[in-house]
Amino acid sequence: MSRSAHPAGPRHADVLTEGHYSAPAADLNVLDEKVWSRTVTRDADGALTVGGITVARLAEEFGTPAYFLDESDFRARCRAWSEAFGPDADVFYAGKAFLSRAVVRWLKEEGLNLDVCSGGELTTALDAGMPAERIAFHGNNKTVAEIERAVEAGIGRIVLDSFQEIVRVAHIAQRHGVRQRVQIRVTVGVEAHTHEFIATAHEDQKFGIALADGQAAEAVRRALSLDGLDLIGVHSHIGSQIFDMAGFEVSARRVVQLLAEIRDEHGVELPEIDLGGGLGIAYTSEDDPREPHEIAKALSDIVTRECESAKLRTPRISVEPGRAIVGPTAFTLYEVGTIKPLEGLRTYVSVDGGMSDNIRTALYDAEYSVALVSRASDAEPMLVRVVGKHCESGDIVVKDAFLPADLAPGDLIAVPATGAYCRSMASNYNHALRPPVVAVRDGEARVIVRRETEEDLLRLDVG
Ligand SMILES: *Cc1c(COP(=O)(O)O)cnc(C)c1O
Repeated sequence: MSRSAHPAGPRHADVLTEGHYSAPAADLNVLDEKVWSRTVTRDADGALTVGGITVARLAEEFGTPAYFLDESDFRARCRAWSEAFGPDADVFYAGKAFLSRAVVRWLKEEGLNLDVCSGGELTTALDAGMPAERIAFHGNNKTVAEIERAVEAGIGRIVLDSFQEIVRVAHIAQRHGVRQRVQIRVTVGVEAHTHEFIATAHEDQKFGIALADGQAAEAVRRALSLDGLDLIGVHSHIGSQIFDMAGFEVSARRVVQLLAEIRDEHGVELPEIDLGGGLGIAYTSEDDPREPHEIAKALSDIVTRECESAKLRTPRISVEPGRAIVGPTAFTLYEVGTIKPLEGLRTYVSVDGGMSDNIRTALYDAEYSVALVSRASDAEPMLVRVVGKHCESGDIVVKDAFLPADLAPGDLIAVPATGAYCRSMASNYNHALRPPVVAVRDGEARVIVRRETEEDLLRLDVG
């Protein structure tokens, strides 16, 4: 994932300058649909249900902490993306957001393609039956063994990320007697996040080959000259949690400009461009993500317009949403442990997980919502910080939120929108056991990634 520093929002500024929060506008018993997966509701007693099952039953059967993934929501989002982009474009789900064999099967059934960026992700994809031609392989430092495996499997495309890799992939493809379909990842000098983007000439990052100083044009020259490679297009990826399409406007313009230069120099019009992922979701009520059809229209309008002005045939577009598909479909369920009111500051609520199951708050200063989900409450709202059980004071799950003041040990609380980059970035810090992922659909719940056990830990530790 690219850099994703998240500037503190105005809510943080309020706390710092005034030392307090104003009470939340909304009733804490009412769930904001925007941040919860589609089948989530509250039953008559105020208990949250997903896929028709109450969290109390889920906690009893699967324990806490655990991720609960709303399968029908996941499938609906896949269909929405694929229908929005239509038959003349390709949607690649970015597997690094969250990947398991069940997820691969859902993607396959819903007609999506899949991005992987490691041998482990590739193995998972192939093992679960994703056709190799529907897989794309990314990454700035793929090993020779990974490239071998991808080429042998007949992978749909490899996204070339360096000059060494151009030669490496060409060589391996030739040895296997194939022409490998490839794209070249270019850095377009745009970095986008939420409502801002920065456009510079040079980009100081590890991914891609720079457009600015002619490096990308040189990479294209070399790729076109090698028999083992079938150069199908140019790839760019500009950021994460993006709400504003202006960054894509600049990146698409620069990519199309490169296609025009390639046509002028080599007499070929590359048939595809990939605009990457990075589309934003709602973590809190303040986030307003766009619908897939709005994003599809905006991107295709931008590309069409730029191609018209460059007198190019409009290439086939691909996009790579990860977070925007899986992020909103899951929540993490925790049991409340200790509660410490700090007079004049806030109340620290400790849960049975933490930075080992959600590193995003510590790593990116990410914002999350939280709700009491095992019952309703009429108590006053209290300002809380939800923290984990790790030996680290930065072990924060939700930095600032409100929960009812009668919150007690044993209550269940849930953090929504944890489908992306939580289980996939989970760690064993403090020898924590990584939580399971449970898929819930139509009144049935099944484990798709089981909880780690102490035996798992000891098995790796060979003494
Ligand atoms: C991370 C990444 C994505 C997915 O990003 P999201 O923010 O999850 O949509 C897509 N493409 C590339 C190349 C990536 O590195």
